[in-house]
Amino acid sequence: MIVAKFGGTAVTPRNLIYIKRIVTEAHRAVVVSAAGKEFKEDEKVTDLLLKFYDERDERLWQKVASKYRRLVEVNGISVDAEALLTDARARALRFDRQYCASLGEEISARIVSAFLCADYVEAEKVIRFDEKGELLVEQTYDAIRAAFDGDNRRVMGGFYGGCSAGGRRTFSRGGGDVTGAIVAAALCATLYENWTDVNGVCVANPAKVHNVATVSGMSYAEMRLLSLAGAEVLHSDAVAPCEQRAVPIRIGNFFNPDGASTLISHCPSQDKLLSVAEKAVEGGYVVTVLHSFPLWQITRLMSIFFKQNTRELHFFDKSCSVDPDVAQVELSDRVVRVFSRRSLLNALYLHLSCRSGSP
Ligand code: ASP
Repeated sequence: MIVAKFGGTAVTPRNLIYIKRIVTEAHRAVVVSAAGKEFKEDEKVTDLLLKFYDERDERLWQKVASKYRRLVEVNGISVDAEALLTDARARALRFDRQYCASLGEEISARIVSAFLCADYVEAEKVIRFDEKGELLVEQTYDAIRAAFDGDNRRVMGGFYGGCSAGGRRTFSRGGGDVTGAIVAAALCATLYENWTDVNGVCVANPAKVHNVATVSGMSYAEMRLLSLAGAEVLHSDAVAPCEQRAVPIRIGNFFNPDGASTLISHCPSQDKLLSVAEKAVEGGYVVTVLHSFPLWQITRLMSIFFKQNTRELHFFDKSCSVDPDVAQVELSDRVVRVFSRRSLLNALYLHLSCRSGSP
């Protein structure tokens, strides 16, 4: 039994068909995000909804509505889009900001369930939060098992749930991954498939570095470390539920489902250079390199790199002034952290990957 989660890029007029191509008999639970971007400058539905709540500008709601109208029209889905949108609009400003943000996932899931001829599961009823916004784990797992009982395929919106004090709560941004992981863990799925628009976990951010290789496998701990270090491919909170129930996670590209992907399980990666992630911090970026070089080797590789890049090298010191022209480095067994300008990322990746065979 497989649980599949599709990110917002799949929930767009031209890409929706990829969901149908991927889903098989084994996919009993499908979790979807709010509609994503159709082109680079486009806006995600969740961003539009949050802006709509803040600014109360009806044109923003109309943008959301037209995205979903086109999704239904282009794919010839037999669902009453107008009724769906009118119902959602009536609730959009009646509750709080998180409720408004949740509507993208709800509308997506209602449309995708019609598209896949599957049953709709209302996330508000199964993903349960207490009044402080903490997930009620046992209650949620029981409700998921009840809602997904039987052989029917079911579709649910990610990212939100119901609150015991009334209304809805959302996870942090990108939290559709977390919903998928919770559903997979509650159902003890054989696999949690997380479908995105990139080839799994890449050695460096594929949006910034060309032709990067995919890491074929890594452990839950390695994935969590990379997510926390800024890798956007999977929400860091999506790891723990699957790790606890030993549900493997496959991160793949819905455009190319048989292509490169990453399997996350209890097995650590075999690669010397695992991955590079980056995160914006005050004054610059922290680049994190996950590796399995022996310490002497990574130390040597880093010294050569910094000599070549004529940067002064300091070890991390929280009290020191933040100056991105001075690279600060923290070296340990599996992880190297460098604080510097972002341009360093590509150069560092190339340097390490070229030498991963022979230092
Ligand atoms: N739609 C939400 C967001 O944009 C959650 C998600 O896509 O996972 O953050």
